Amino acid sequence: MFRLNDKVKNLTPYEPISGTYEIRLDANESFLTVPEEIENEMVEALKNSALNRYPDPMATKLLKGFADYFNVDPDCVTAGNGSDEIISVIMNAFLQKGDKILTLEPDFSMYRFYAEIAECESVKYQKNENLDVNIDDVIDMANKENVRIVILSNPCNPTSRIIKADEIRKLINNTNALVVLDEAYMDFAVSESLMGEFQNYDNLIILKTCSKALGCAALRLGFAVANKTLTNVIRAVKSPYNVNSVSQALGEVLFSHPDYIDSCIETVVNSKKELYAELLKIESEKIEKIYETHTNFVFMKAKNAKQIFEKMK
Ligand SMILES: *Cc1c(COP(=O)(O)O)cnc(C)c1O
Repeated sequence: MFRLNDKVKNLTPYEPISGTYEIRLDANESFLTVPEEIENEMVEALKNSALNRYPDPMATKLLKGFADYFNVDPDCVTAGNGSDEIISVIMNAFLQKGDKILTLEPDFSMYRFYAEIAECESVKYQKNENLDVNIDDVIDMANKENVRIVILSNPCNPTSRIIKADEIRKLINNTNALVVLDEAYMDFAVSESLMGEFQNYDNLIILKTCSKALGCAALRLGFAVANKTLTNVIRAVKSPYNVNSVSQALGEVLFSHPDYIDSCIETVVNSKKELYAELLKIESEKIEKIYETHTNFVFMKAKNAKQIFEKMK
């Protein structure tokens, strides 16, 4: 009789909230869709994709577009089927069975999930009541527990808080662990990004995605940025044709319009500011606390959270 192994026997498939809604607020997607002119270019690019051929395994043109936009060396970038896939690849590549990772809770739940599938334990640093992070405590914990990977989102999903670049530098410099810095929301707070200096470290991988600020969650495009040694490992471990030709082609068109990307970010930031200001006005009545926001969403604590959730649904 076949028996499921312990690590998978209690798993259930990931289920986002189902149903049709005009606006979805639960996945932090963009509310913007590409304008007709860019959409037409995408249709052209689609027509020119050879469906009978395997995709370019290195997504060369797409990486060039990404690298130009973020001003990095394309040889230091790997494309993935969403940054989700890249997180999984990183856990499988840089961990061996029994290794530990450190997460800063609450944070993006997929980090621990992929580490567990790689048969590794997650050590959890608990953020305080105010959702602040004391970076010295994180460093102590990483070193004491001898973790192989410290992974965090900055700005953070779900807290919308940000850790200053200087603190992140301190973390990277004071641990032997690999620091995986998920900058999925850094487009909304560029000044604290470490994208411009990843080459300075032998233990830093930065993750980016097209799903949030760039408004293309459907394409499933994520990126890892790291020095060449780390990049070679990620490229070697990923499955060869992980990013399909259609997503590559449409992503290339997206990155050929940097002004459009910038305008999307500006629109989203302005809309978020407006939401934040309006929420502040009603804070005292209905909401316990609204946290400072550095993302495209606002994180708040409310007494009747369940009720608000159901109503908004
Ligand atoms: C949304 C999100 C991702 C996932 O990005 P994909 O590229 O769509 O897989 C990764 N990290 C964080 C923190 C996110 O919020």
